[in-house]
Amino acid sequence: MTATAPVRRRLVIGNWKMHLTGAEATELVAAISAGLGELGAEVAVAPAFPALAPAAEEIERRRSPLRLVAQDVFPEPEGAFTGAVSAGMLAAAGCSHVLAGHSERRQIFGDDDRAVRRKVEAVLGAGMVPILCIGETLAERDAGNAESVVGRQLEAGAAGLPEAGLGTLVIAYEPVWAIGTGRTATPETAESMHRSVRQRFADLAGEERASRAQILYGGSANGDNAAAILAGPNVDGVLVGGASLRAESFLSICRAAG
Ligand code: PEP
Repeated sequence: MTATAPVRRRLVIGNWKMHLTGAEATELVAAISAGLGELGAEVAVAPAFPALAPAAEEIERRRSPLRLVAQDVFPEPEGAFTGAVSAGMLAAAGCSHVLAGHSERRQIFGDDDRAVRRKVEAVLGAGMVPILCIGETLAERDAGNAESVVGRQLEAGAAGLPEAGLGTLVIAYEPVWAIGTGRTATPETAESMHRSVRQRFADLAGEERASRAQILYGGSANGDNAAAILAGPNVDGVLVGGASLRAESFLSICRAAG
């Protein structure tokens, strides 16, 4: 499949992980919003749960184009699930997107492909966009299994979703060995995997949907390497961890995208 000049808008997401209180998140939303200017790319931030409401208020107050992303979700709609947060709650808090299957959730909290799939479905059911995170470990890459692992995760998360879901799903390719390590995939490695992911997604969702799907790269992206990574024709944006915690470094990535 030729991934040609697309109708795809770039998307840059700052994943704040377990950093920033509500007050700190408000400050960072304000600084990012002030520096955004007229960008062609969509820009979003993913605060921790308690910071979602303050961040949403600041976005609203400033009439900022920033979008709000949740880092995780529990797939049940409500009930006796102490510590959990439902998709409906996240939608009500102002989130438009939710991460599903971030490698830290898979590795530290034990989310397997089945759990990730349930999260994807719950997010769609609440009218938001799931960001399906996939990526191989270093051992899997060294064993020559990177494409098959990523393909399996993609299929588990997306195969057989309702058409509307397949049409809105965002995919984030995040090689585990590049997350938080300072070791970024080369632009060639990223583009090659993104091309393969788009091809696999075409098998699941059809060429048309695959050609429109946003496929983001994540893994030690920063202001110095973002432009080269984004030059790949199948790289439609970046999911940024560490470099999203300061307005200036995050904005330099947004500018590279926009
Ligand atoms: C992430 O958390 O999704 C991520 C890519 O982190 P970092 O940019 O710090 O590698």
